[in-house]
Amino acid sequence: MSYKALLFLCPLLGACMAACTPKPAEPPRPDPARIAGHIAYLASDEMKGRGTGSKENLEAARYIAEQLASYGLTPKGTEGYFQPFEAKVTRVTVPDSIRLARNVIGFLDNGADYTVVIGAHYDHLGEGRQGSSKDPAPEGKIHNGADDNASGVAGLLELARYYAAGNEKEPYNLLFIAFSAEELGLLGSKHFTAHPTVPLDSIHFMVNMDMIGRYDPARGLGIGGFGTSPAWPRVFEGVTGQVKFFTDPAGEGGSDHASFFSKGIPVLFFHTGGHPDYHMPGDDTEKVDVQAEAAILELAIELIGRTMELPKLEFQTP
Ligand SMILES: [Zn+2]
Repeated sequence: MSYKALLFLCPLLGACMAACTPKPAEPPRPDPARIAGHIAYLASDEMKGRGTGSKENLEAARYIAEQLASYGLTPKGTEGYFQPFEAKVTRVTVPDSIRLARNVIGFLDNGADYTVVIGAHYDHLGEGRQGSSKDPAPEGKIHNGADDNASGVAGLLELARYYAAGNEKEPYNLLFIAFSAEELGLLGSKHFTAHPTVPLDSIHFMVNMDMIGRYDPARGLGIGGFGTSPAWPRVFEGVTGQVKFFTDPAGEGGSDHASFFSKGIPVLFFHTGGHPDYHMPGDDTEKVDVQAEAAILELAIELIGRTMELPKLEFQTP
């Protein structure tokens, strides 16, 4: 073979070696552009606020299930990825008060005895006809719910993508749950904890993300649930993160982690705080800080990683 031919072949050979040699896959880090894409889709006007029982809410559920499937997660609902249930609107009187709702559940089975649950609700207030809007005349106005809680769902999807990729087999299984009917009174998480698809006593702890899109550096990220296990101080020791955060002991409160806490399961609750667009039609995509959200997810990965170095967390009441 001529020298020239060798010169031609070598770069090709090198490229093939790089592509063909198995190397430890680096899990994909939380990505601001992907986070932005999920939020822009879920909180678009076309999704009409993802009210429980609406066809747009079902579309959102299908979108989430497709994402979980694309990461290779196992369906862990009762009908594939879906766990359907009946939700009742009780805060206002409406003719269609009984709504078909569904949680969306994907499982990363690492063959472990215990499971970390990561959750976020995907429903919101629809077009303002199901109660709890802060708008004085909410009917017919799309409540996009970009922060509440497309941001949390984007976080859930990015964490699912992160853990599902890579060669590392974590010492715990991971269960990803997108809850519905949270805005009607935590109905999806109450349904799951009443009809769990993994045994409740196999849950290491539950982390809930509800409104993680409006990071305010002056306030910092709030992390609730710090009092729900004697192990939390050890887990958090020396953790600084790229975002400022503070902890709060409470395990109850107005989101889905409360359903797990009430069953004696340690919880963490990530929340960037209230704002004037809370439960208003102006909770829009462009107001979400996706760079900060990616940094919040890095912090979640660090904390979850630390819990996986410990035996199953003990529960305590704060
Ligand atoms: Zn919410």
